[in-house]
Amino acid sequence: MPEKMRAILKTKPGPGFEMRLVDIPTVGPDEILVKVKATSICGTDVHIYKWDSWAQSRIKPPLIVGHEFCGEVVEVGKNVKSIKVGDFVSAESHIPDMTCPVCRKGQPHICRNLKIIGVDTNGCFAEYAVIPEICAWKNDPDLDPAIASIQEPLGNAVYTVLAEPIAGQTVAIFGDGPAGLNAIAVARAAGASTIFHIGKHKFRLDIGRKLGADVSINITQEDVDPVKIILEATGGVGVDVVLEMAGSPLSIEQGFAVLRKGGRFSAFGIPSEPVRIDLANAIIFKGARVLGINGRLLWETWYQMTGLLRSGKLDPSPVITHRISLDEFEKGFELLTSKERRVGKVVMFP
Ligand SMILES: [Zn+2]
Ligand SMILES: [Zn+2]
Repeated sequence: MPEKMRAILKTKPGPGFEMRLVDIPTVGPDEILVKVKATSICGTDVHIYKWDSWAQSRIKPPLIVGHEFCGEVVEVGKNVKSIKVGDFVSAESHIPDMTCPVCRKGQPHICRNLKIIGVDTNGCFAEYAVIPEICAWKNDPDLDPAIASIQEPLGNAVYTVLAEPIAGQTVAIFGDGPAGLNAIAVARAAGASTIFHIGKHKFRLDIGRKLGADVSINITQEDVDPVKIILEATGGVGVDVVLEMAGSPLSIEQGFAVLRKGGRFSAFGIPSEPVRIDLANAIIFKGARVLGINGRLLWETWYQMTGLLRSGKLDPSPVITHRISLDEFEKGFELLTSKERRVGKVVMFP
């Protein structure tokens, strides 16, 4: 076992990351040490890279970043019972305390004292990572490591889509980032009827088509109004389900405008500022059900996701557009901050 490893760190306040040689972390009694096989870049990592106001308020450098990964367990702490050396695991990034009132009421994914891997604790953009036993999810040994590494964000989509019944329902999915694209794949796998996809990058809307979107709507094109298109296509009724994965004030407003009376609105995208909503017309008179979606249900979402992957019905691989070495991380962040966004998910191999 080597003593040092390559890792990507936020070494000090300010934009950018650095690759450094650091000590391989030691395992506590309730933790496991994982040799990272694949790790993917999340929007959260981009916020930390850019050092925006959220990152400035939350991140305490020095910190190894990254929270989406899979790998092989190489050491377990003395209290660990459910995981053994050699297991192929992915990680749930939300670390619940399991003792607060919210955890005790059965909702550990929104624990009051939630910690996030790679945000509040050292993460996985490295050759090795330590995580609590409770956050380990055992994968099928033959699962593609690239797919295994994106299960944390894929799980967001599984939770968003399956929060209520979806089979046979018309769906509008706002947002063409990986979350929106994964949501298309999950909605298709779970038997949704017509899927409308609303986005602003041609490259990503094309991936959405490949994943099963029936109608893709590019809002950057002149005279394209998603509300008009969706209402016309649904005989003026609107869609049964809106999945808001963009977090922009405009898409939130348009989402409520295309939601049918009595429909379901899953809110996943995070607006950067407070958003005005016409509560009376958007929600009350409409009898709409608005669900806030944060993280993944522990552990129902992971079981559903594994079941869908095993069935062969869910294949998110078109979302993975780039496979690069961890050493090339700058390239990944360049792609993800570029204007054209000719990129879906970037997976890095240490
Ligand atoms: Zn993530
Ligand atoms: Zn808790």
